[in-house]
Amino acid sequence: MHNSWDVVVVGGGNAGFSAAQSAREHGARVLLLEKAPREWAGGNSYFTAGAMRTVHKGLDDVAEFIEPPHTDRIDLDPYPAEEFLGDLRRVTGGRCDPRLAEILVGESRETLGWLHELGLRFELMFHRQAYEVDGRFRFWGGLAVGAVGGGKGMIADHLAAAERRGTTVRFGAHVTGLLTDDGGAVHGVRLSGGETVEATSVVLTSGGFEANPAMRSAYLGPGWDLALVRGTPYNTGDGITMALAAGAQPYGHFSGCHSVAWDAGADPTGDRDLTNQLTRGGYPFGIIVNAEGRRFVDEGADFRNYTYAKYGAEILRQPGSRAVQVFDAKVLGLLRPEEYEAPGVSKVQSDTLEGLAKELGIDETALVSTVEGFNRAVTGERFDPTVKDGKHTEGISPAKSNWAQPLDTPPYLAFPVTCGITFTFGGLRIAENGAVLDTAGQPMPGLFAAGELVGGLFFFNYPGGSGLTAGSVFGRRAGRAAAV
Ligand SMILES: Cc1cc2nc3c(=O)[nH]c(=O)nc-3n(C[C@H](O)[C@H](O)[C@H](O)COP(=O)(O)OP(=O)(O)OC[C@H]3O[C@@H](n4cnc5c(N)ncnc54)[C@H](O)[C@@H]3O)c2cc1C
Repeated sequence: MHNSWDVVVVGGGNAGFSAAQSAREHGARVLLLEKAPREWAGGNSYFTAGAMRTVHKGLDDVAEFIEPPHTDRIDLDPYPAEEFLGDLRRVTGGRCDPRLAEILVGESRETLGWLHELGLRFELMFHRQAYEVDGRFRFWGGLAVGAVGGGKGMIADHLAAAERRGTTVRFGAHVTGLLTDDGGAVHGVRLSGGETVEATSVVLTSGGFEANPAMRSAYLGPGWDLALVRGTPYNTGDGITMALAAGAQPYGHFSGCHSVAWDAGADPTGDRDLTNQLTRGGYPFGIIVNAEGRRFVDEGADFRNYTYAKYGAEILRQPGSRAVQVFDAKVLGLLRPEEYEAPGVSKVQSDTLEGLAKELGIDETALVSTVEGFNRAVTGERFDPTVKDGKHTEGISPAKSNWAQPLDTPPYLAFPVTCGITFTFGGLRIAENGAVLDTAGQPMPGLFAAGELVGGLFFFNYPGGSGLTAGSVFGRRAGRAAAV
């Protein structure tokens, strides 16, 4: 294999494949270097649900790039740019970089169309983002479209498209450093073992540092080294480390990350079979208590899409970094079977709350008193999972703002959870075209970046489905700029 390329892409997840395809489209000879072996292809992108947040004008609009749905009984409200931008600003406390946010939102729809032309298949996510109410499937939470086959399907489609369009992909290629000339321009990469690869431009798409316990505790703080990793073990911050060493500017929320309620019995890093099924996202319909039997978050503060990414951190702060989601029989039909009935799920069931507490090793009086206090505090009228129904609690803290119903119908079910880290928010600063900026705010010649390792978009929290869209929007831009 010749060792000089127009564009070298470092990291084979969704952002990397998007960058590679875009660079190919603009005439570049592209080599994608992936640290993991082929059996671990796809980075974190493989582990996703494949959910992609996009602006759209309603069903007719998304119909242009999705597989035909199995029913026409669909209620899908348009999701205009102002709403996506508003959601992004709201959940990030107004801190998201305004220009990056505008680009992400403004190019989301067009980029999904582009991915579809490349060969990626999309569908409406009935099981994840819709509930059937009065015979119609009502979509909620600003998120409706996902890759066919989730992350597994997305990566299979990306690999096939890369092969069709002539991107060379090399697995087991661990990039350890950037080659720079005396003026600081990047002209290639170094691999473990000392091999070098020359390139006119390098695009870093090698993910965040979520799988590096030392970086987690250094940047996110004490205790984060103990979090379970939801995805690939290969995202150890390499791209961030090597770019910072070459003079790149750190940007964004370095002490922040995306983390969720995750099966307490899960492995330390992601499971290639179960992938996203270890998430426990049904908490808006029950309560979450810690090992002392106390509630500690507003389970119904918002749709799951706008709270799930920050509640992992809340669980990490609890005694033993553990918590338990508790439900009664009347909401079981609302829990996604893919998650709550997955093989090996950590689960306890009892006809009484006392029995449940005993099985869980939680003080019986504490759990019973929490549930009884919660039940007494529930007020409001109609329960409706498809809207923020305002059915709330009064006089307890924390409150539950929506979907509050008494837990009074046995059997009771409890799901032990811990904090699963998804990806880190801090990273490199990029210009609009994906060029990495140095500490003086100038583009670093020959160096581009996209995906999880870009900082500045997400702070504190994250609107579900934005990561993949961001990877493709900025990957596409970076690939184009790297090629010309
Ligand atoms: C369980 C789970 C579910 C998720 N669900 C969703 C969802 O439904 N929708 C959504 O938008 N987001 C979701 N996310 C977040 C999403 O995974 C990321 O936003 C997105 O995949 C990031 O893509 P990426 O290409 O930047 O990184 P990745 O897909 O992680 O790719 C990075 C690649 O770089 C490689 N690499 C690392 N270091 C090196 C090196 N030194 N040399 C060469 N290669 C290297 C890694 O091996 C990896 O393959 C989820 C994440 C997880 C873990």
